[in-house]
Amino acid sequence: MKIFCVGRNYADHAKELGNAVPEEPVIFMKPKSALLQTHTPFYYPEFSNELHYELELVLQISKNGRYIPEKHASKYYNQITVGIDFTARDVQAELKKKGLPWEKAKAWDNSAIAGKWLPLTPEMLKNPIHFSLLNNKKTVQKGDSSDMIFSFDYLVSHISNYFSLNIGDMVFTGTPAGVGECVVGDVLEGFFENEKMFEVEIK
Ligand code: MG
Repeated sequence: MKIFCVGRNYADHAKELGNAVPEEPVIFMKPKSALLQTHTPFYYPEFSNELHYELELVLQISKNGRYIPEKHASKYYNQITVGIDFTARDVQAELKKKGLPWEKAKAWDNSAIAGKWLPLTPEMLKNPIHFSLLNNKKTVQKGDSSDMIFSFDYLVSHISNYFSLNIGDMVFTGTPAGVGECVVGDVLEGFFENEKMFEVEIK
C-alpha cells in the first residue's frame, strides 16, 4: 500500500505558507508505516516542537492502473474519507530552506490518519464536498472540494503517469487554509459533511 499526498492544492493554503500556487500538482509520498492504525495512540513526535494538522479529503484506489486518462480516472477510486497529513512544520521549514526532501517532516511513523471509509457515489461528486476539523470542539479548519486547484480525476491521472496505482493505495488530496499547531492533550475530530470520521487525541 502506498500513500500519495498532494501539496498546495488549495490556493489559500499555498498563500498562508508563503508558497506559489503550483502549475502542476506537488506530489509526495508517505510509507505504509506512516498510517496510524486503529486503536494505536498518537504520540507527539519527539523531534518536533511545532506539530501541525492538515485536514484533507482522502481517496482510496480501487483498481490497479498506470497511465490513466483523466476521463477514466473516476473508475479507479471508490471510497472517500477525511484524514490528517501531520506535519512537523519546524522540521519542514529547515528542510525547505536547505532544498532537501520532506520525508522527515511528513512521512514519519503514524504521521497519517485516515477516517472510516465511505463508498463514493457519482452523486457525491456532483456537489462540492464540505469537510472540517475540530480541535477541542472548536472548528479550526473548513474545506470545500470546489476550491481544489486540481480535481480528484486530474490528480489520479497525473499520479498514474509516474507511479503504478494499486488497490488500497490512498491519495491525500491536499489541505485547505487554516492549518495550525496542535499540542499534547488536544482532541482532533474530522468531519465529512456532518459525519464524524475520526477522533484522535495527541498524547
Ligand atoms: Mg498536506
